[in-house]
Amino acid sequence: MLLESTPLSGAAIRDLEAHLLGELIHPAHYDYAAARQVWNRAIDWHPALIVRAADAADVIRTIAFAREQDLPLAVRSGGHSMAGHGTVDGGVVLDLGRLQGLSIDPERRVAWAQPGLTWGQYAERANAYGLATSAGDTASVGLGGLTLGGGIGWMVRSHGLTIDNLLSVELVTADGRLLRASAEEHPDLFWGLRGGGGNFGVATAFQFRLRPAGLILGGALVYPATRAVLRGWADYAVQAPDELTTIVFIMPAPPAPFIPPDQVGKLVALIGLCYVGDLETGQRIVEPLRRLGSPMVADLSGPMPYPAMFALTEEASRPEQSAVRSGYLHALAGDSLDAIVEHAARMPTPGGLVQLRALGGAMARVPADATAFAHRDKRFMATVMGSTHDPAAVDRQRAWAEGLWGVLRPSTEGVYMNFLEDEGPSRVREAYAPATFARLVAIKRQYDPTNLFRLNQNISPTDCRSGEVS
Ligand SMILES: Cc1cc2nc3c(=O)[nH]c(=O)nc-3n(C[C@H](O)[C@H](O)[C@H](O)COP(=O)(O)OP(=O)(O)OC[C@H]3O[C@@H](n4cnc5c(N)ncnc54)[C@H](O)[C@@H]3O)c2cc1C
Repeated sequence: MLLESTPLSGAAIRDLEAHLLGELIHPAHYDYAAARQVWNRAIDWHPALIVRAADAADVIRTIAFAREQDLPLAVRSGGHSMAGHGTVDGGVVLDLGRLQGLSIDPERRVAWAQPGLTWGQYAERANAYGLATSAGDTASVGLGGLTLGGGIGWMVRSHGLTIDNLLSVELVTADGRLLRASAEEHPDLFWGLRGGGGNFGVATAFQFRLRPAGLILGGALVYPATRAVLRGWADYAVQAPDELTTIVFIMPAPPAPFIPPDQVGKLVALIGLCYVGDLETGQRIVEPLRRLGSPMVADLSGPMPYPAMFALTEEASRPEQSAVRSGYLHALAGDSLDAIVEHAARMPTPGGLVQLRALGGAMARVPADATAFAHRDKRFMATVMGSTHDPAAVDRQRAWAEGLWGVLRPSTEGVYMNFLEDEGPSRVREAYAPATFARLVAIKRQYDPTNLFRLNQNISPTDCRSGEVS
């Protein structure tokens, strides 16, 4: 029984369903309530239809359907968009979560992977060969969105962004063509796909380079959150050898087995670390981080398989209502650190955090114009997350996040597009250098002139390129 109550053409829907290898989910479907949800539970929209695509042909058909029916189209891989772009009220969701194919060639160190895999699944499979691709810090994030936005994670200083390890993309464009974009084929499109997000089409497969990363020196060091600890970390983290990537999470200590009971709920700086290389050398490189303050709350560092890193973020990454503000910084000044510590201590309810990432290394050695990700010169990224599972605390957590962001914002320059909420066109522009943005607009005009793919951090074909008059 299909959507008799909607203004959509029943015949068109029946035709779509008859030709799908995957599944069509409408509001009366038993699985609709689950299928419409995305990671950010603050987004509570009701799509008219959800297509769980089974292959690229389903993607082509769904794009044609949305275009012909003039319906807004949301594209979803892992559903972790902070802005909730993986769903839409009254439109069509193209859900790629079932596209989970993965083929690994350990000799050539190349993987073909589909967008519905999570990075946790990918890391586990690759680790069987002692290999990894640089991705994010969280297992449940999807390949699709993270890759197209750039990909900043546990190996960003050692192996660069995810897009620096991307060799080609299979993409269905707005006019229904299945293309391969690489350095040789549609090179301009390939440039735009590396940082331009979902603006140019629907990626049905990615080809990644893999690097050796069987056992890494990883885990975390937990300290009381003080300015001195954060200063020591920041100064060391950006000038450490490339092999070491660190991310600091400033938050109330969780009731975990590794936290002494008297420390639970106190504000801590959890320094996640990932050293990729010789383990003995790694111990020497990590050592200064073990002397940032005394007493340390917990030392959870040691050799481990790379996918074990994701355990650090598992609890904090469960679906929740979340408010996010983020930006890059050239430096972390003392008063910013003071503000972070003071403000974090006033978090209304546990669940939120401040995240500081040290960048540089391999990521910074790729020229800024080599891909559509232009902010390679920034040394830090600061993110305030006002998350909570408690519906009654949502507004307070958001106000808290915005309060700290108000203090940090003047020191920031640019933003990572994957860490944007729906913050308006001017913030999308901040994600790109002006020349990068102008080139993205030109590619958009070529591949999606009607802006079919607009439920994203949108680069509109009618956006002005620099020098143009609006
Ligand atoms: C808990 C959490 C932790 C995170 N940690 C990191 C991190 O460590 N590093 C990092 O870089 N990012 C991180 N992110 C941000 C993450 O990269 C983005 O939210 C990303 O968009 C998620 O990808 P997804 O496929 O899961 O999301 P989705 O919501 O499915 O997709 C987001 C958007 O990407 C586009 N898109 C997705 N798939 C495709 C496709 N196949 N073809 C075309 N367009 C597509 C669409 O525009 C879509 O709206 C994190 C996010 C969360 C919620």
